Amino acid sequence: MTTTIAHFIGGRPFLGRSGRSSPVFNPTTGAQTATVPLATTAEVDEVVATAKAAFPAWAATTPLRRARILNSFLRILEERTDDLAAVISAEHGKVLSDAKGEVQRGIEVVEFATGAPHLLKGEITENVGTRVDSHAFRQPLGVVAGITPFNFPAMVPMWMFPVALACGNCFILKPSERNPSAAVLIAEWLKEAGLPDGVLQVVHGDKEAVEALLHSPDIQAVSFVGSTPIARTIYATAASTGKRAQALGGAKNHMIVMPDADLDQTVDALMGAAYGSAGERCMAISVAVPIGEETARALVERLVPRVRALKIGPSTDGDAEMGPLVTRAHLDRVRGYIDLGVSEGAEILVDGRGFEMQGYEEGFFIGGTLFDRVTPEMRIYKEEIFGPVLAIARAANYTEAARMINEHEFGNGTAIFTRDGDAAREFAHQIQVGMVGINVPIPVPMAFHSFGGWKASLFGDHHMHGPEGIRFYTRLKTVTARWPTGIRAGAEFVMPTMR
Ligand code: NAD
Repeated sequence: MTTTIAHFIGGRPFLGRSGRSSPVFNPTTGAQTATVPLATTAEVDEVVATAKAAFPAWAATTPLRRARILNSFLRILEERTDDLAAVISAEHGKVLSDAKGEVQRGIEVVEFATGAPHLLKGEITENVGTRVDSHAFRQPLGVVAGITPFNFPAMVPMWMFPVALACGNCFILKPSERNPSAAVLIAEWLKEAGLPDGVLQVVHGDKEAVEALLHSPDIQAVSFVGSTPIARTIYATAASTGKRAQALGGAKNHMIVMPDADLDQTVDALMGAAYGSAGERCMAISVAVPIGEETARALVERLVPRVRALKIGPSTDGDAEMGPLVTRAHLDRVRGYIDLGVSEGAEILVDGRGFEMQGYEEGFFIGGTLFDRVTPEMRIYKEEIFGPVLAIARAANYTEAARMINEHEFGNGTAIFTRDGDAAREFAHQIQVGMVGINVPIPVPMAFHSFGGWKASLFGDHHMHGPEGIRFYTRLKTVTARWPTGIRAGAEFVMPTMR
């Protein structure tokens, strides 16, 4: 018997009446555990109408009161981190410790959003003209939507809604249909924390629901995180319907290993960054670029035994470093890329295709894979694989490595491992990538900074959370006021200037 994961609309679960649904699996066992309804356009329109009705009261709620509700939610999240992590892990396949880390990174955005009363403070200039003052402040947009991917079912929604809600917007979340339960749990906890009904709703769905959100005249802004082809379409459609949009896409993150890097530290960093969460992270390192043949040789010598020794296990195994992939279809896709790499002539040093998880033969497991001598013409270099597959692409010198990164389609994250301050500074300054690590493999910005890539990794003007998040979810209004003083200026027909 599988359960049905309901939408969360107007403060209540709603099973939907579309008659269409999608299966949800436990990736460790491969068994279907639930079905999730896929909303119709009419259902999405009802959700939007509910949000629209809730907006005036929520926008009029003082920022301090809104922040207090988020504070109560924060306490719930802290107390029940393990429960949320277990739900994530059961539908995503990532190991529990990793799922807890995901929740923690989401909690940090909630913490940031509780500071909204300070962040929403405006600007004032006295006497922009004689007895004329100007002040500028930011107001909420209205109803906004978030469309999120499978790989962070709690953290990515939490990049968006805490900031959107703190700013006074109503938020509609369309989570991934592959692991939708975390979003519903979050919505229930927000209600428990005191969030009024309709202010945050969860609607499940696929392309139809997304299209309905994009075409609704009552949605003011869309935040999207997912693959690049969809991000590109979402951004173009949202722009054509007059919405503000931020659409974060895929990635191919390189790590340059300079000859002076501490190789033991580098290999530790690479292992976690490439194989943690089975490589299903948009900030995963998928290409290592050792500089010079000697660095490459020493790196390979250290990496191969480590990749072979990866501890792979069910997501509930406390000792496992990596769990299964999210679905069978994704497993087949990753396997297909490994086949492709071999046929393109890359040298396979560790082959994960033969891996079987004893006792979990139907689970979506694959072993860690390591390719060497990968070159920029190969599709396994150009395309995002999103699995535990690390490519070594050798470069003769730093200039060649930096050029590879700059010429790549994606520009999400990157890292350099070195002890050379000049090289590190040059890298940080010149590289065409949005998030840069210096001896930090996964440079995900903290909540009070903003997250976002460049090039085909982000379409739009604003990154997520931090100050950019506040700007994205508000619009600026500037008031210029002349105070009645009895001074009569008379009619002015020229362009007004201040005297
Ligand atoms: P996806 O693009 O398949 O799905 C993302 C969302 O879009 C889901 O909610 C899905 O239901 C919806 N969607 C799917 N197909 C659609 C269509 N044709 N029309 C409208 N909506 C559609 O992505 P995914 O597989 O869930 O997630 C993995 C991808 O997300 C990877 O490419 C990864 O790099 C990317 N990602 C990027 C970031 C980032 O910050 N840049 C963060 C996390 C994940």
